[in-house]
Amino acid sequence: MKKLLLTALVAALTFSPVLAAEPTPAPSPSPTPAAQEAGFWLTEKGGKRHNSKCRYYQKTKGKPCEATEGIACKVCGG
Ligand SMILES: [Zn+2]
Repeated sequence: MKKLLLTALVAALTFSPVLAAEPTPAPSPSPTPAAQEAGFWLTEKGGKRHNSKCRYYQKTKGKPCEATEGIACKVCGG
């Protein structure tokens, strides 16, 4: 029985370097940037909210916002 245990131990020691040398998963080539665009644009002036299809979307001074922020644009519906 002792010999069997030793054999198992030797086998484990023999295999461990192989396991250590296992290729690590390659990091994704292009890390996805933090999602900044919420789909809506809140203008700095007036606090109007535009959706991504609006011609004012990201064209005016402002910042990305949520659907609940600001005042809905009359043209695009916010
Ligand atoms: Zn709009």
